[in-house]
Amino acid sequence: MSDLLSDRTRLDRYPARGKHDFETIAAILDEGFFCHVGFVQNGQPYVIPTGYGRDGQSLYIHGSASSRMLNRAGQEIPICVTVTLVDGLVLARSAFHSSVNYRSVVILGNAEKVEGPAKLQALKVIVDQIVPGRWDSLRPVTQREVDETTVLKLDIVEASAKIRSGPPVDDEEDYALPIWAGTLDFAPLSAAPKADARLRAGLPVPDHVRQYRRVRK
Ligand SMILES: Cc1cc2nc3c(=O)[nH]c(=O)nc-3n(C[C@H](O)[C@H](O)[C@H](O)COP(=O)(O)OP(=O)(O)OC[C@H]3O[C@@H](n4cnc5c(N)ncnc54)[C@H](O)[C@@H]3O)c2cc1C
Repeated sequence: MSDLLSDRTRLDRYPARGKHDFETIAAILDEGFFCHVGFVQNGQPYVIPTGYGRDGQSLYIHGSASSRMLNRAGQEIPICVTVTLVDGLVLARSAFHSSVNYRSVVILGNAEKVEGPAKLQALKVIVDQIVPGRWDSLRPVTQREVDETTVLKLDIVEASAKIRSGPPVDDEEDYALPIWAGTLDFAPLSAAPKADARLRAGLPVPDHVRQYRRVRK
């Protein structure tokens, strides 16, 4: 079990909620599909939301070749990638102890540009992270589309996870108050597929769409 703990990824508050083993971090990353990428340009921090895919110890992000975020992050400057899964609301008897159940990951490192055949594989990883099995059902990408896309790889070697779960933790004297308290869990995402208005007639919903679930692993 590899350990991704460093001085920079050690949690200060509630350290017991922190995890630094690769397996825990990978499980959270695999359940999500969008992240926030933080970087500094001319002294100004930017935090930009975007999609990602994980393959082994690599995290891939992609986008337009003209994207500022990808161009800046691709210059091998330090970046910070954060993934957040919100599992539910923690409704305590006071505002102070009200909270959220969540699992989150922070990864620090320097991203590098992916070129050549590895770029196509990385694009497949990103597409399949969002809907597993989708890539193989799609029209193959063209060289122009590949050229117009920048792909970055960040090694997952310095990272942390933080997990909050369970009921509210109120002050002892507050438990007697006539205030409803508890948790409100968010259901897994699984909406019914809505066919495109211009869908070719007679096409069945494929299994990878019909069976789409984002369930807790
Ligand atoms: C949905 C959500 C809501 C939250 N709401 C609040 C809130 O209202 N108020 C509040 O104070 N905190 C909140 N947190 C927790 C917050 O993310 C930080 O953990 C918190 O500010 C304490 O950080 P720290 O001082 O221990 O760590 P810092 O000193 O800020 O960070 C040190 C290192 O700890 C790691 N780390 C810190 N936080 C996280 C994290 N969440 N996930 C993974 N690694 C982490 C990073 O590697 C970081 O480099 C929330 C978290 C989530 C996911």
